Order: sequence, then structure tokens, then C-alpha cells
Amino acid sequence: MLNQCPHSTVCLPATGLPRVVVIGAGFAGINLIKKLRNQPVQIVLLDKNNFHQFQPLLYQVAIAGLEPDSIVTPIRKLFQSYENLIYRMAEVERIEPQTQRVFTSIGWVGYDYLVIATGSSTNYYGLQQVEQNSVGLKDIRDALDIRSWVLQNLEAAAITCDQQEKDALTNFVIVGGGPAGVELAGALAEFKRYLLHKDYPEITADWMKIYLVEAVDRLLPMMSGGASAHALEVLKKLKVDVLLNTAVKQYDGSVVTLGNAEKLSAKMLVWTAGVQGEAPGGLPEGAIVKGNRLKVDGFNRVVGHGNIFAIGDVAAMISEDTPKGHPMLAQVAIQQGRLLAENLLHHIRHGAFEKTFRYHDKGSMATIGKRNAVAEIGKSTWEGWFAWLLWSTVHLFSITGFRNRLMVGINWMMRYLSYEKANRLIIRKFKPPGTLMKDRHASEFDKTFISNH
Ligand SMILES: Cc1cc2nc3c(=O)[nH]c(=O)nc-3n(C[C@H](O)[C@H](O)[C@H](O)COP(=O)(O)OP(=O)(O)OC[C@H]3O[C@@H](n4cnc5c(N)ncnc54)[C@H](O)[C@@H]3O)c2cc1C
Repeated sequence: MLNQCPHSTVCLPATGLPRVVVIGAGFAGINLIKKLRNQPVQIVLLDKNNFHQFQPLLYQVAIAGLEPDSIVTPIRKLFQSYENLIYRMAEVERIEPQTQRVFTSIGWVGYDYLVIATGSSTNYYGLQQVEQNSVGLKDIRDALDIRSWVLQNLEAAAITCDQQEKDALTNFVIVGGGPAGVELAGALAEFKRYLLHKDYPEITADWMKIYLVEAVDRLLPMMSGGASAHALEVLKKLKVDVLLNTAVKQYDGSVVTLGNAEKLSAKMLVWTAGVQGEAPGGLPEGAIVKGNRLKVDGFNRVVGHGNIFAIGDVAAMISEDTPKGHPMLAQVAIQQGRLLAENLLHHIRHGAFEKTFRYHDKGSMATIGKRNAVAEIGKSTWEGWFAWLLWSTVHLFSITGFRNRLMVGINWMMRYLSYEKANRLIIRKFKPPGTLMKDRHASEFDKTFISNH
């Protein structure tokens, strides 16, 4: 196998060991790598970002509750002590299975085994106007954009004398009633209740409206009816306007058009209503299924390829039990990463893969504002304060890195005692709607920097 592996245009040491190229340092990628630590393989990790991010807490960065660096970890720090790992910051463009090469923004890399762990991206289901005028909640830049956008709108609302404009600037629309939408809506509602009057005496709390729009008939559709009902009740108490059975059709940056032709005037829309696999190019069409995910067998092998694997959100393991593949959740990604590492080592030693994947569902949770959550683990369900305590404990222990865990823990303790949020800062000004998403992700500083270098 090794002889077939051409080296690379990216400078990499030749070790004589089988080379495992891993694309993506998300939950799937890093858990695979942890199991391959100092094993007889050369790991080449490629990620377009130089950090790993803890997506479940993005919403807390978005509402100024946490600093961004408490939920992201530099990849190089994460793997400092790994002697068999090489990291290259590179965006993968396509794969060429015939020559066993991965083409990236910095050149090509040859592989013996290729693991695709590229995760997912926001799915706007073809609603181009919505995509151009809104922001998703998928990575740390989105979270920072939301933070700036909320604060900029409030600043603008504070200075305008035009009441209609004030209303539009203080109306916030969140689309998608899954955990991300529910958590963001709850947090924003608490910001309104406890901080708005202190920071913005010019803005009357009644002006600020938070709409949570969901296309189906309940919130948290992946959880039980009881959990959905509890989430709805808590959000209503927090004065969030929850619109169920309602689809968003258009958004021009000022007016949201709903499926029933009703219109909402709002200068901010966050889209959390869907994700799709982030499958890299180059693989045959037959390997890609609905939702742009890669079809894999029980060993996470991409169909039709003996040495290309997909794990995590980008993988669709379709079977009778999972006709749509597994849910796009961190636990699926973690478990697939760990098992694939074992299977790869077994294949290198014995020439065969050993165990097929079985998902162990550890439950679902969502927090709704401070001190309230829903949690379902096995047949047990909890709502309210105890569920929130469970949610906090599980998330705290799941964050990558001791420093980050400590920072988040201290921050949460302080916020438990007060509603203060320390990070109400517009560090990077958000570009007003109407600009393409890709464009918006590069700040003015980034653009000046890029154009000067
Ligand atoms: C807001 C939010 C809240 C969530 N909350 C929960 C929760 O509470 N519980 C839960 O279980 N799950 C939650 N999830 C889902 C969970 O985060 C994902 O299922 C998980 O991150 C998937 O892991 P992954 O490794 O497949 O992908 P990711 O973690 O997304 O990692 C993908 C990696 O690939 C890199 N990459 C992508 N494309 C390329 C490329 N072309 N070239 C190079 N690198 C590339 C990315 O930079 C990234 O580092 C949440 C997700 C979001 C967005």
C-alpha cells in the first residue's frame, strides 16, 4: 500500500509508515487522531482553520456570554505531544482517488488511508435571498458576527428618532426551532430582560421583539413532546414570539416574508434551520446522498472506495435502522472517530477491518435560558433546574482543554450569580446585510491585510 502512495507537493517528512490523511479537526477528526497517537502511522491533519471549535456553545459567544477563545483551541496546541502527527493549515479542494491524492490550497498530499471529517455547513435550502441577508450559526465567525450585529442594531436604535426604524432595529428573527435556535432565542430574551434597560436606557424593552420561527408544529422536534412543550412554555414566559408551522420564504435585509404571506419588519435574521454535509469534490456522484453527505458502509468506508473513509456529520451510514443516516451530533462524530481509529490499526496489522459501527445514544439536551433546560437520557427525562445542571455538567466536561474548561466554568459561576455579560463588545464591525456571506466573513482588517500581502 505504501508504495502506491506518492509523496506530496506539501513538504512532509518521509517516515516509511502508512500515511493517514485526516481532513478536519472537528469532533470526529480529533477523536480519531487521539486514538492514533504515537501508533505506527504517519498522521497528516489538514484543516482550513487553525483551531478546533466547540459548536454547542457558539450561541453563548453570540450573545456575549463567553469570549471566543474559551470555546476554540489551537490545533497545534492540541497535538503538541504527538510525535506521529503533522498539521497543515489548508483548505481541501478535491480528492483524486485514482492517484490517491488530496488537492488543497497549499498543494497536493498523497495518502494510504484518507479520512474525510469535514463536518457540515448551513443549509438555506436554495433560499438565496435569505442566505445573502442573514447569518448562520455554524462557526465562531458566525457567532462573532451575531454578537456585533445585535449590538450594532441596538446602538443604531438608540440614536434614531424614527419609531419604525427603531422597531425594525430591535426586532430579531431566529429561524429554526432546534437546539441552536431555542438556545439562542432564550439567551437573547434574557439579555433583553436583564440587561437591555441598564445598557440602553434609550430603548424601551417592549420595543425589542424576538421571533423564533419553526416550520413544523413543535420546537426541538428530535426530542419528546414533553420536552417540546416545556421549551415552548419557558420561551413564552421569556416573551419570545414563537411561530410554529411557519416557514420563512424571503428576507431582503429589512422585511421577512413568511409562508402565510405575513411580513415581519426586522433588521436581523439568524438562520439555524438546517445543515448539509460538507463533502469535498472529486468523489463520484454515486457516493453522495441527499444532504450532500457521503454514503458509507458499516466501517465508515465511502462506498466504492477501500481506503477512503468519512466520519461525523459528513458521513451517511444508511441502513434499515438509520434510513437517513445517523443524526448530525457530536456523539456520533466522536464514536465514529474512535472506532475508525481502531479499525485502521487493525487493518494495518491484520489486513482486515474488525468492528462495524453501532451508535450508543447518550441522550439529548437543550438549555432554555439560564437555569432551565430539557434533558432526555435513555428512558429518563428531566425539565427545569436539574436538567440545566446536567446540561452544564456535560457541556463543561466536554469542552476541549483544561484552560477552556476553567474559563467557561468561572464565567458560568459568575453569571449564575448575576446576569452580567462581560463581552458586550463590537470588536469587529459586522458588514450590513446585502453582502454575500463569504465576503462578510472577511473583516475590513482581513481584507486590507490580504490585499497588502
Ligand atoms: C450551533 C450548534 C450547536 C450544536 N449543539 C450540539 C449539541 O448540543 N450536542 C451535539 O451532540 N451536537 C451539537 N451540534 C452538532 C455538532 O457540533 C456536530 O455534530 C459536530 O461538530 C460534528 O463533528 P464533525 O467532526 O463531523 O464536524 P465539525 O466539528 O464541524 O468539524 C469539521 C472540521 O472540518 C474542517 N473543514 C471543513 N471543510 C474543510 C475543507 N474543505 N478543508 C479543510 N478543512 C475543512 C472545519 O474547519 C472543521 O474543523 C451543534 C452544532 C451547532 C452548529
